[in-house]
Amino acid sequence: MFFAVVDPATEVVVERVALASVEETDWVVERAKRAFPAWRDLAAGERGRLLRAFAERVDACLDELAALEVRNAGHPVGQARWEAGNLRDVLHYYAAAPERLLGQQIPVPGGLNVTFAEPLGVVGVIVPWNFPMPIMGWGTAPALAAGNTVIVKPAELTPLTARRVGELALEAGIPEGVVQVLPGAGTVAGRRLVEHPDVRKIVFTGSTRVGKEIMAACAPSVKRLTLELGGKSANIVFADADLEKAAATAPYAVFENAGQDCCARSRILVQRPAYDRFLELLEPAVQGVVVGDPRDPKTEVGPLISAAHRDRVAAYVPEDAPVVIRGSMPEGPGFWFAPTVLASSDYAALPAWHDEVFGPVVTVVPFEDEADAVRMANDTPYGLSGSIWTRDVGCALRTSRAVQAGNLSVNSHSSVRYWTPFGGFKQSGLGRELGPDALDAFTETKNVFIASE
Ligand code: NAD
Repeated sequence: MFFAVVDPATEVVVERVALASVEETDWVVERAKRAFPAWRDLAAGERGRLLRAFAERVDACLDELAALEVRNAGHPVGQARWEAGNLRDVLHYYAAAPERLLGQQIPVPGGLNVTFAEPLGVVGVIVPWNFPMPIMGWGTAPALAAGNTVIVKPAELTPLTARRVGELALEAGIPEGVVQVLPGAGTVAGRRLVEHPDVRKIVFTGSTRVGKEIMAACAPSVKRLTLELGGKSANIVFADADLEKAAATAPYAVFENAGQDCCARSRILVQRPAYDRFLELLEPAVQGVVVGDPRDPKTEVGPLISAAHRDRVAAYVPEDAPVVIRGSMPEGPGFWFAPTVLASSDYAALPAWHDEVFGPVVTVVPFEDEADAVRMANDTPYGLSGSIWTRDVGCALRTSRAVQAGNLSVNSHSSVRYWTPFGGFKQSGLGRELGPDALDAFTETKNVFIASE
């Protein structure tokens, strides 16, 4: 079986990539299982050195990786360079972890009590198509640092950078079988990884629907699981905020990566006295977003990933949709969709208000007071991220404690830094990635008592 990888900006087939069968998946798991004892037993300093070498190979090939992602996912070249740089930085950050993977000595009578952080074994990292390199790195780097071996299954649509990164690991001197990349269909190779008895942990990033299936499939063997799922985040703008800055940045908080971002702030809530002024300021900001050829360094937003996905996004903006602002997009081939702002007093009837559109569509809605804003922000099964704009420190603090989401930012939209924890409340996920504690998700605590008598 082959999958035709298409350049979303030109609609030209880039390559036909072979998809792994169940038998091939089993061989890959067997190789990972065989590679595990030697990798686990490697001196911590040596594991760290190999991870640094891996990060340096990624850095040396940063332009090549970025160019691959431009062709495969249609990401603007500046963004694709950031993504390759994020993979490098995550590898560097966790390269410092093996020597710091400390246990505890706990006082007990009659002997010595110590804990060890033991690696799990083979870890499967299942990756979506929206940020292939960063998401591959967030699962892989801490898993390797903790002494596990890793199998990465990229999304069918975006296998090219993952495949190259797998080669870079070998070039850096990481032993065969420690990092393997397995392009394959979710329902074949992905499902097999989830069900395979020798895969001890799954890190899944993708839709909430598939995440629930995977959670159920992990239950029979109590397989360890981290889930990073969908989002429907709110950007809350209070009337006292710096409205110019809030409006100028709001488009990028939802339209970046053409809205194909689990953290997209796709619901903008504006306090009623500032509502009209905010929309006035938002219009030029949306129209100023540069949508176009991803190879042009000036481009800010590229195409959607596929024709099917564009159709799905377009269904949220039917002929009679209450569009109040529309940005630009190029003509000709490519899966383009113009940035679109919806606003209606009957917003609750709009599917785009409730669903994760995963495209450049945002709904703007007024609210009355702090309690109203919190109620609306939390009125969703998701809880991944969000932003709060106000000059009132007390309001910022109360609102950020009340909004049920894993990653919030006040007077900014930044939510992902590799050295801080990332993950979702409610149906946005289970567990946390990144930050200083990520190795906990890839180790088991073993408690050992040694009698002194
Ligand atoms: P998806 O769920 O369709 O697929 C994700 C991955 O799972 C792919 O590699 C796919 O091949 C695989 N897969 C599909 N069915 C499977 C099965 N039955 N068993 C095992 N693997 C299977 O998601 P997508 O469309 O690729 O990605 C978009 C979704 O990802 C959005 O909902 C988005 O919010 C979410 N996402 C979340 C985060 C986060 O950190 N919370 C980050 C990025 C994307």
